[in-house]
Amino acid sequence: MRYALSCTALFTIATGTCLAAGPVSVQDARDEELVSVHGCFGDENGNLSGGIFQVPMDGEVIEFLEAMDRASAGALDNRLDLVIVGDGYTAGEMGQFHVDADGIVNSLYQYEPFTSYQSYFRVTKVEVVSNESGVDNDPSPGIFRDTALDMLYWCSNIERLLCINVGKAYTAAAAAPDIDQIIAISNSSKYGGAGYSSNNLGTAAGQNSAAADVAIHELGHSLGDLADEYTYGGPVTYTGGELVPVNVSIYDQSEQVALSRKWYNWMGASTSGFDNPIGAYEGGNYSQLGVYRPSSNSMMRALGRPFNLVNAEKLLKEIYREVSPIDDGTADGTELGRDDSAWIVPMRPLNHDLTVLWYLDGVLRADLIGDETVDIASLGLDDQEHELRVVVVDGINWVRNEAMRDQFMTKERVYTIPSIVCSADINGDGVLDFFDISAFLTLFSAGDLAADFSGDGTLDFFDISMFLGTYAAGCP
Ligand SMILES: [Zn+2]
Repeated sequence: MRYALSCTALFTIATGTCLAAGPVSVQDARDEELVSVHGCFGDENGNLSGGIFQVPMDGEVIEFLEAMDRASAGALDNRLDLVIVGDGYTAGEMGQFHVDADGIVNSLYQYEPFTSYQSYFRVTKVEVVSNESGVDNDPSPGIFRDTALDMLYWCSNIERLLCINVGKAYTAAAAAPDIDQIIAISNSSKYGGAGYSSNNLGTAAGQNSAAADVAIHELGHSLGDLADEYTYGGPVTYTGGELVPVNVSIYDQSEQVALSRKWYNWMGASTSGFDNPIGAYEGGNYSQLGVYRPSSNSMMRALGRPFNLVNAEKLLKEIYREVSPIDDGTADGTELGRDDSAWIVPMRPLNHDLTVLWYLDGVLRADLIGDETVDIASLGLDDQEHELRVVVVDGINWVRNEAMRDQFMTKERVYTIPSIVCSADINGDGVLDFFDISAFLTLFSAGDLAADFSGDGTLDFFDISMFLGTYAAGCP
């Protein structure tokens, strides 16, 4: 394995601009630490097999953690940041890198929930220049190339397992404004990929359409922490305890329903855009028996298939960990005057609107549902203090776990509208009467600037005139 100095340039799809970044120095370091990667590959029908493999971490963990910290320090944006880095692309091949990266992203957006929630993503392509074109062991073992991220086929002696130096990938990706997920693509058409789920990193061949689907499947692992739903690679019969991932269970349909476990509240559901219907199908997590999966087929079982609703619900939860349903608006806790407005910008999925609800003193204002701006003057308030609260919630029916919806897909902001203080009500008893006049004259005689109604710093005739004017007008 070779190590090389590389330089990166930042390219943001949204603006179409390139920003030069400083050279990234990487150390010739290879520790002994192993990391689990998913290697899931489709046959000619897309049916997946493979499993979890232990491969060298290949990169300074500390270096990678620093990159993470650096990236998250400035992460004030409200998007899930998908960073794409390439390996084996020379300076003259950056055009190809962008074509390949766009192909991966366009493939991703073919699948729900990513199709409808693509507005929640920010994709940043980071140009990483390699000294030589192509990556190691392509097409066969023993072919070495001097590349920036040390990608290689035949990782752990598995032809299609496409490994990478994780530390170098993170160092390069740190040129992006933020990192939530990384997809690293090889300058190759040779089928392959790998999912470093614990590092939120997936690899894929840049010029292989099936490999693009591998990258999406890997995102199911790394973003959704989803299990494989295929049946090869493990013991024929699984005999262990309940599995952690949301999309596999040792419980069949009736047991799930009886115990309120896993996807019990999805049984029988069918929704367009997903692999249907939901049930408990035996086989999954590399075993044919003793494990159940939510749908007959799915992206976690075969390439080219949609995700199922159980997958989608979890993916939405993870997306909403990074993205608030309130994208912008009047800051939470703001004190609003009677002439002010409160405004909110909800996130905008492509297939539906989020629900915007306004509560005045805890009572839903039905006339304001969906409004993004509310004029305080239009609320018909009395002089007392009031509370205005806005709640934005994603009510999509791809989620049935209402506790999850409340925690991750609902956000609120609360505003205070202070009571109107009547300046002529000197003694503050809520009525204007002789005692206020008396109190004013007492302050005035004593030279107390509380009687400075004109606000000019001196007590004179104008203060008496303004007090009497306010008094005569009555408090608003
Ligand atoms: Zn997999």
